[in-house]
Amino acid sequence: MSTGTETFEFQAEARQLLQLMVHSIYSNKDIFLRELISNASDALDKLKLAAFTDKDLTVDTSDLHIAIEVDREARTLTVRDNGIGMSRDEVIILIGTIAKSGTAELLEKIRESKDAAGSQDLIGQFGVGFYSSFMVADRVTLLTRRAGESTATRWESDGGATYAVETVDDAPQGTSVTVHLRPEDKEDQLFDYTAEWKIREIVKRYSDFIAWPIRMAVERTDNDGVTTTESETLNSMKALWARSKDDVKEDEYKEFYRHLSHDWTDPLETIHMRAEGTFEYETLLFIPSHAPYDLFMRGAKRGVQLYVKRVFIMDDCQELMPEYLRFVKGVVDAQDLSLNISREILQKDRHIQLMRRRLVKKVLSTVKEMQAGDAERYRTFWTEFGKAVKEGLLDDFDNQSTILEISSFASTADPEQLTTLAQYVERMKEGQTDIYYSTGESRTMIENSPHMEAFRAKGYEVLLLTDPIDEMWVSSVPNFDGKTFQSIAKGQVDLDTDEEKENAGPEREQQEKDFADLLGWLTGQLGENVKEVRLSSRLTTSPACIVGDSQDMTPTLEKMYRAMGQEVPAVKRILELNPTHPLVTGLREAHGKRSDDPAVAETAELLYGMALLAEGGELGDPARFTRLLAERLARTL
Ligand code: ADP
Ligand code: MG
Repeated sequence: MSTGTETFEFQAEARQLLQLMVHSIYSNKDIFLRELISNASDALDKLKLAAFTDKDLTVDTSDLHIAIEVDREARTLTVRDNGIGMSRDEVIILIGTIAKSGTAELLEKIRESKDAAGSQDLIGQFGVGFYSSFMVADRVTLLTRRAGESTATRWESDGGATYAVETVDDAPQGTSVTVHLRPEDKEDQLFDYTAEWKIREIVKRYSDFIAWPIRMAVERTDNDGVTTTESETLNSMKALWARSKDDVKEDEYKEFYRHLSHDWTDPLETIHMRAEGTFEYETLLFIPSHAPYDLFMRGAKRGVQLYVKRVFIMDDCQELMPEYLRFVKGVVDAQDLSLNISREILQKDRHIQLMRRRLVKKVLSTVKEMQAGDAERYRTFWTEFGKAVKEGLLDDFDNQSTILEISSFASTADPEQLTTLAQYVERMKEGQTDIYYSTGESRTMIENSPHMEAFRAKGYEVLLLTDPIDEMWVSSVPNFDGKTFQSIAKGQVDLDTDEEKENAGPEREQQEKDFADLLGWLTGQLGENVKEVRLSSRLTTSPACIVGDSQDMTPTLEKMYRAMGQEVPAVKRILELNPTHPLVTGLREAHGKRSDDPAVAETAELLYGMALLAEGGELGDPARFTRLLAERLARTL
């Protein structure tokens, strides 16, 4: 039975990625073989697992392996596995399209990136996969039969816009990928992928730890000069995580990391540990040196794989790593779980929960050591992953204080450096009990906001929190080292020393009396927008600012909730006036003399509008504000 050949078009993203491959965006073409072997290894993992879990599937799993076959005459290289295989539909979906989220965005970035190194870096983060064979091939043929099915599928493409699919009668179960090597590489010894030494070298280098035998027919000449061909296993097959630390070379860790993560750069940290006792497991975790492009995309996967007694069980094991550490890559191999374990069971399993707790503690303590021992590396870590780690302040109550310890923040203390909270506390002024912070969209915006004035004038350090996540945690984390987090834009500010208070006391009382009328009138006037108008002790140069009550939601947080589609009641805030500013004293006088003059009411409105703008807020009616202001300005000319 053959249905004849059907031609399909690659999905647009797939076509673009293929174009990048055909034009060899990677300088290191050798990796195509690593990718094909990795796919074959995955397919064998899947078959082994299916044989355990699917009782209806009768397959022979006695000799699962990968074979590399070379035809020097035809200049082809074939990677064959007897794994799970693919159905016709699967071939069309899995090979004809790229399902990874964010592909379009990534390809766009690569196109924009001017330098070659930049684009290599980007594509390296993405993982090139099956399509990388088009770096060395002008044609690729794939023949596959899914375990349990009787017909097979042949797929072929030259890496252009289309591929051909044909249903064929017989083929061994599993998949073989045949790469028709490009003729132009023929003379170049370094890139002769039909040479035995070359294949040996690549397998040793990239795929030595693959858990299945990778076999190849090699020629041997014995002492009598007789040449025979025999099959040789090229890889040592030792699961890296199961070896003792002393037996693993740095380079082996790196290669294994690349195999796991498809990331081309070296990891920042390697964590290799073994837990003994009632519940045994081995684990090898990596902290990458840069954030993946999809770290903050919806549905970003977690990077830890679960194995049970060397058998691969699942990728993206959410039960082993919390979401805020989703960038950690690695393998956990547990001895005492069933191979049939399901996600539901995993969620409830007490051992898994204990394991997760230990892994999280280990990752956090590794970062802490890095912070203490290698400032440069810690900085890299925090720049890349800090935003994600801070999510843990909301999600991981147990480790809240450790997460605070390993966090860094921008601060008014030094425009160039981030500070830890411990460093902040060390610098706190005598008598200071709170950690002052401000949230906002950017450093400049916060630094120039009126809320900052008194803190600057009195020399108090303020943390500048500009990540959206900061808004969320800072209002729910109670304290650090017994010191409360205090927003400079919330509540009453009282930075005066006792002595200053004593001296200022009578003056302050007088001010309260002098302004009582104005404040009462303004509260009525602006009542729709603010709940209170009061005199400020946080302003030195601005006429007014807007603050919240200590328990109020900030405007940014309000905006964030709205953007997420949540209903939140509008929060009325407080207008604070600077009693020494000429605009404020002028307004008081004008109100005292002509309380019914509409120009006085307009001034009040402008004052409120300016305070809103100064903190980066949005005016309710910008057109009206501009008109009033323009009229005023015209009169001054
Ligand atoms: P990735 O391995 O990252 O998913 P690839 O481009 O390497 O991306 O492969 C795409 C998909 O094609 C794989 O996820 C797998 O489902 C399927 N595939 C590729 N090679 C094989 C194979 N040898 N056996 C079975 N399925 C395969
Ligand atoms: Mg792959």
